[in-house]
Amino acid sequence: MPDSFRFDRLFIGGEWVEPLDGGVRPSIDPATGAPWGDVAWGGERDVDRAVAAAKEAFEGPWRKIPPWERAALLRKFADLYATRVDALAEIETRDNGRAVRESRGDIGMHAQYYHWFASLADKLGGRTIPMDDSVHAFTTRHPVGVVGAITPWNVPLMAAAWKLGAALAAGCTVVLKPAEQTPASSLALARLFDEAGFPPGVVNVVPGDGPVAGARLVAHPDVAKISFTGEGATAKTILKTGADTLTRCTFELGGKAPHIIFADADLDQAINAATGSAWALCGQSCALGSRVLVERPVYDRVVEAFRERAGRVRVGMPLDPATHMGPQAHRQQLDKTLSYVAIGRGEGAELVTGGARIDRDGLADGYFVEPTVFAGVSAAMRIAQEEIFGPVAALIPFDGEEEAIAIANATPYGLAAGLWSGDTGRAHRVAARIEAGMVWVNTYRYIRWSTPYGGVKASGWGRENGLEGLDPFLETKTTIVSTTGTFPDPFAS
Ligand code: NDP
Repeated sequence: MPDSFRFDRLFIGGEWVEPLDGGVRPSIDPATGAPWGDVAWGGERDVDRAVAAAKEAFEGPWRKIPPWERAALLRKFADLYATRVDALAEIETRDNGRAVRESRGDIGMHAQYYHWFASLADKLGGRTIPMDDSVHAFTTRHPVGVVGAITPWNVPLMAAAWKLGAALAAGCTVVLKPAEQTPASSLALARLFDEAGFPPGVVNVVPGDGPVAGARLVAHPDVAKISFTGEGATAKTILKTGADTLTRCTFELGGKAPHIIFADADLDQAINAATGSAWALCGQSCALGSRVLVERPVYDRVVEAFRERAGRVRVGMPLDPATHMGPQAHRQQLDKTLSYVAIGRGEGAELVTGGARIDRDGLADGYFVEPTVFAGVSAAMRIAQEEIFGPVAALIPFDGEEEAIAIANATPYGLAAGLWSGDTGRAHRVAARIEAGMVWVNTYRYIRWSTPYGGVKASGWGRENGLEGLDPFLETKTTIVSTTGTFPDPFAS
């Protein structure tokens, strides 16, 4: 464990405090199945303390700090973050098993997210509204208040960057609850906010169980908004829990992204993107192209390329920089992935390669699974409909644009999509008709601070990043000022 971070305290009100309710729990390294560190575990009373600290900070110092000073603090934090990329990547990799070459690449970009949000902090002006001469009408924008940020286990620091960067730039204060499998990196993050000099209570971090600490955060009357990334089923529970307090919610949920390869595509590039996306994060990302739709004339070539590439994926210990793909992040996810391999075979899909847990020396205690390819998949199969969240590519053949669009849209999800074609007109036609929050054309998973990210249909509500990313953390107030000061007596006649 890197020396400068420790994880056995909660971060509340600018202090490192022992949990009142929960104590300390081991965090499991999915590469070994063994504990690698002890993490403080908060309960309801800890969440209450954190919300009280966040409320006090919101009503006190944070509200009074001019926006350009909020921005300066965020920039200072971002610069500090950039100096700790290696340590943060190691912590995240120990918690979720993501190959460290990926963790470093991802976490290496986070400082830029915080810089982007910092750059927006003092530009959140309203507008004047053209009216007649009798009034002057204008809007102003105000932070909603205390934000509960609830994050998943696959990308804890990325989800935190998107939520905290936007919330803090908007002038909100935050209580962050990371997923139970991956709490350590969020406490490391708290250390950096502390070092950067954020006022006490502006950022609070309380790991804990979702149905306890998470639910208390959602139900708390002083929490104005929940920014959530996770599963749709959890989002529905959150909506019900937050109903009595009318808590605002944004949701980044699951996906089953179609990655469409037309026969006229630059096939080498398309295969690079499609195979890379199938096995990145060991398949554990909502935006990965888990459904690969391939036009029939090139279908066999693409299947063969997937089979060949799967053999070149170096599965291994995630802290080894040579490793391409680490283990699944936790035992339940491993079981889920293996169960979907069985489902795919039972549905009649052809298992081209992979599909088994890896039990070779050195990896047998971890949650490693082979990169897996199914061919002959039809759109209605469960492996083409349901989010597996494992390194399982489902290759679906299609004939022509209309069928590609129909298959692409035939799931409950609508997060992301990719398409490869050498025909610009076709690319526009198809992109326009795909039901998704994001469509990548002749590229894939290009995600940046300035590009809005989020889903339609069962993939969520609202957008993170981009200019739109601040909207959920702001309320608009309309002020109308009479220029005459006169108001007619309604009962004069
Ligand atoms: P979960 O929904 O299980 O958990 C997400 C977070 O919610 C965790 O912190 C969890 O805590 C918490 N939680 C659980 N129950 C409650 C509750 N009753 N009230 C409040 N909070 C609760 O998702 P996963 O962690 O399993 O993450 C994987 C999912 O996230 C996938 O479906 C994936 O598609 C989605 N995802 C979406 C992204 C997007 O941008 N659209 C990006 C990344 C992931 P605990 O861990 O203790 O249960």
